[in-house]
Amino acid sequence: MESIWTRTCPIGQREPLPHDMKTEIAVIGAGMAGILIADQLQAAGHRVVVLEANRIASGQTRNTTAKITSQHGMMYGKLIDGMGQERARQYAVANEEAIHEYRRIIQDRKIDCDFEEQSAYVYGDDLEGLQAEAGAAKKLGLPVQLVKAPSLPFPVAGAVRFNHQAQFHPLKFIRQLADPLTIFEHTSVRTVEDHAVATDHGRVQAERIIFACHYPFINVPGFYFARLHQERSYVLALEHAEPVGGMWIGSGKEVYSFRNYGDLLLLGGGGHRTGENTAGGRYDMLRQKAREWFAGSREIACWSAQDCMTPDGVPYIGPYAANKPQWYVATGFQKWGMTSSMAAAMILRDKIDGKSNPYAAVFDPGRLEVESIPGIAADGGHAVKGLAKRFFQIPDTDAEKIPAGHGGIVLLDGEKVGVYKEADGAIHPVDIRCPHLGCQLEWNPDEKSWDCPCHGSRFDSQGHLISGPAQ
Ligand SMILES: Cc1cc2nc3c(=O)[nH]c(=O)nc-3n(C[C@H](O)[C@H](O)[C@H](O)COP(=O)(O)OP(=O)(O)OC[C@H]3O[C@@H](n4cnc5c(N)ncnc54)[C@H](O)[C@@H]3O)c2cc1C
Repeated sequence: MESIWTRTCPIGQREPLPHDMKTEIAVIGAGMAGILIADQLQAAGHRVVVLEANRIASGQTRNTTAKITSQHGMMYGKLIDGMGQERARQYAVANEEAIHEYRRIIQDRKIDCDFEEQSAYVYGDDLEGLQAEAGAAKKLGLPVQLVKAPSLPFPVAGAVRFNHQAQFHPLKFIRQLADPLTIFEHTSVRTVEDHAVATDHGRVQAERIIFACHYPFINVPGFYFARLHQERSYVLALEHAEPVGGMWIGSGKEVYSFRNYGDLLLLGGGGHRTGENTAGGRYDMLRQKAREWFAGSREIACWSAQDCMTPDGVPYIGPYAANKPQWYVATGFQKWGMTSSMAAAMILRDKIDGKSNPYAAVFDPGRLEVESIPGIAADGGHAVKGLAKRFFQIPDTDAEKIPAGHGGIVLLDGEKVGVYKEADGAIHPVDIRCPHLGCQLEWNPDEKSWDCPCHGSRFDSQGHLISGPAQ
């Protein structure tokens, strides 16, 4: 399950942290967010060290579809209604500025990363809704047009088009940006206390610490576990498919995504809350769509990724918590982390430099608008459900019934355990208590992984951690 990005762009290995050290700024995580934040801060003259648990860009970033756009689905109407026009304008301009910053960096440093200007479209069947969204975007000064009956391989009523957006190869970009940065790989951060970052290879003492680790793993303070959940979706890379001309995302219930990369078409979809894919079939559903819409195409790769979602649809970028003024966070990118990571890098750079940033307020992690409370309650409800399932739901299968190459939850000597069955029938027991906050892990047959429905931690078939917030 390797993306076309990882297949086509190996990134040189870095050493783990060699010994205890002192620095001005420690960035935790070397995904798109961590690399861009470190780059902006280093360019502004700061001393920065990046600590990465695994490899550079080995988290969600290697499995993105890499559209660089301020069009984040049908969001601007909702944003104006929920947060008011001024905050919505801040969000729009921050993301437009992020596109300009990508363009500037790529041109100035001559980065060969297949960057190309494209239009972004959100398509759908509700023409009135699309008209309203185009109107909302126009009010905010975005480069928008309404397109009636756009040419897609299936009929739709219309699309909202944003001009002067872009797409690229994310790893080619990161590889060059990472080059002059001090990055330690295979250096997992275990705990953070005030200015001390403890890793499995030593300690880093830093004046400021930035959590760019996708899902912030320090539960208190911050309480991000109560106001973030994760959603996963799936991608096929197809050859011999008609080009779609632009970058597309659907609106409504079934959301599909399209973009070309060279001769390939990337078809995305099958989104669900992480931990809620026990029936599987997401790749098969996309394959069926590929046959229907792009007859004659051939799949050359498939992969999936997940992202953190906030109750009000806006990322958390800024101070980690009121009582930790030296800690910062960038998370909750809603599957739009290319521009959001760049916005985060510019906002955090300005914050640390003591400059006011005109777009920072809308992203402030300390906001708690009334309208976000139902979302927080819903996330809490999911967590309670995940815990309750562990204690009260009796497994309805036994190990014999689990097919080879799959996993399931069974009762073993009166204890609930996960088991994974190898092709030869050998069985591996797995503890299905998520080490993060104790919810019951669920088997994801598409990825052959154990996923947590509460906060989205993932483990491989044998129970080894793939991604957090569990550490
Ligand atoms: C299917 C899909 C398609 C997408 N397509 C787009 C798109 O077209 N355009 C767009 O804008 N966005 C898109 N996104 C979203 C985008 O890919 C993400 O928002 C972005 O990659 C997140 O980057 P990140 O740096 O926050 O996280 P990551 O890339 O996950 O980086 C976090 C890093 O932190 C490290 N880490 C974690 N814990 C620790 C620790 N304790 N110590 C040290 N290191 C640690 C991890 O190993 C990882 O490398 C998509 C998302 C999905 C799911």
